[in-house]
Formats: sequence, structure tokens, C-alpha cells
Amino acid sequence: MRFDVISLFPEFVAQLAGHGVVGRAGERGLLTLHGWNPRDFAEGNYRRVDDRPFGGGPGMVMMIDPLRAALAAARAADPAPARVIYLSPQGQRLDQRKVRELATRPRLILLCGRYEGVDERLIQAEVDEELSIGDYVLSGGELAAAVVIDAVARLLDGTLGDAESAGQDSFGEDGLLDCPHYTRPVEHALGRVPEVLLSGDHARIARWRRQQALGRTWLRRPDLLDEASLSAQDRALLEA
Ligand code: SAM
Repeated sequence: MRFDVISLFPEFVAQLAGHGVVGRAGERGLLTLHGWNPRDFAEGNYRRVDDRPFGGGPGMVMMIDPLRAALAAARAADPAPARVIYLSPQGQRLDQRKVRELATRPRLILLCGRYEGVDERLIQAEVDEELSIGDYVLSGGELAAAVVIDAVARLLDGTLGDAESAGQDSFGEDGLLDCPHYTRPVEHALGRVPEVLLSGDHARIARWRRQQALGRTWLRRPDLLDEASLSAQDRALLEA
């Protein structure tokens, strides 16, 4: 999968390529990350990329032409069809379902705003969708782009080893939160590992984990239960 990031600070996102899960996906040839700086496409000695907003008011607005040229260069760099996403607090809120959908695409171009944002005409003409990472305002789209890249990368086939498979994670196919996890030592001043996890009885362990996941979801995120895929046994546990 190919990611192109349009940003005034492309090196910010490029750092992802050297670390952790995204780095590993890159090493395994599962994704490539390319940065495009609109300033490199701006005209004039000052390579200006922003200007004052029409109608007055504070802040600056990112200008159409440098962004458009950067987008055109990114599109032209690879023949695979690209979906252009503008990271914006006004977009659809990102969730795991959306991440799964994005992970099926061959290419994403992620457009990062700064200042007051991007000239609306560019959004109307060039952007396929707007995505928000939450109801708060960041000072730039780079952190949001990094969130999208990381969340998608871990779903690409071959990024995670079996031992860390994403299937068990929160918001997985069953729509529940994950169960709690423990590691050595068994005994600690902060408590003991639940006995069942030491039993070696795989069926009991699986049942306990399911109960925990159901219980946590019910306590912390009951809204998720409406859409979770639950068996009759799960429902009986919840109603008990
Ligand atoms: N004036 C804009 C508004 O209120 O909708 C906010 C602009 S914000 C200071 C600058 C840039 O940060 C945006 O263009 C966008 O790319 C990014 N950004 C801010 N909050 C975001 C969020 N919650 N999700 C995704 N991107 C965000």
C-alpha cells in the first residue's frame, strides 16, 4: 500500500517509517510512505503557501495552487488509483471500521492542513473525503495522518506476526473491547495473575477472556454492544 502525505512538515510523518509497526511494514515491502511539501511547488522568492482570509479574521489560509501542484505530483508518481483524504476536525470521525476499509485501498493521499485550514475550493475540487481523529482541534493534520497510517499499517497482511495478531484487539471483528492482559511475574506486590490464566485449560481461558471482554465493554462502552456480533451464550452472560 502506498501513502503520500502532503504537508508543510513532511519529515514529521516520514519519521514513522523508521519505527515500530509502520517501520516493519515498510521493511517487509507492505507499505511505502512519500512526503510532498507544497512549498516546493510554490511560486516566487518567498515560496508562499498561505495568505490572509477573505472577509477578515485571524490566521492564515493555505493557498490553492501549491497544494494542487503537490497533489498532482503525488498522483502522477504512481498509476494506482488514489483516494485523497483531507485530515480535518470537520470530517467523519475515524474508527476501526473506517480503518479496515482504508486498509483495502491500494493508495491513500493524505492532505494535512495548517493555520486556519485549506482554501475551501481546493477541498471541493480535489478531496474525496474528510476524516477527523476526534472532536478536538490540532494545530496541523500531520499527527492525524500519522494516526491513520499507523492504524492502517497494522491491518496489512503480514505486518503483525501471529503472536500480535490484530484479531484479538479492541474493535476487532466482534466489535468488543479487548480482555485484560498479564505477564510475569505471577506474584507481585500489585497483585496475582488470575488463576485461570495459569491453568493451561485453553477452553476455560478462552471463556474467561470472552467474559472479561464482554464485561469491560458493558461497563466502559455499552454503546458498542448494540453493534457487536454476539452469540446466544454471550447474551446469556450479559443478562446474567
Ligand atoms: N479552522 C479549522 C476548523 O476549526 O475546522 C481548524 C484548523 S486546524 C488549526 C489546522 C489543521 O489541523 C486542519 O486543517 C487539519 O488538517 C488539522 N486538524 C485539526 N484538528 C484535526 C482533527 N481533529 N482531525 C484531523 N485533522 C485535524
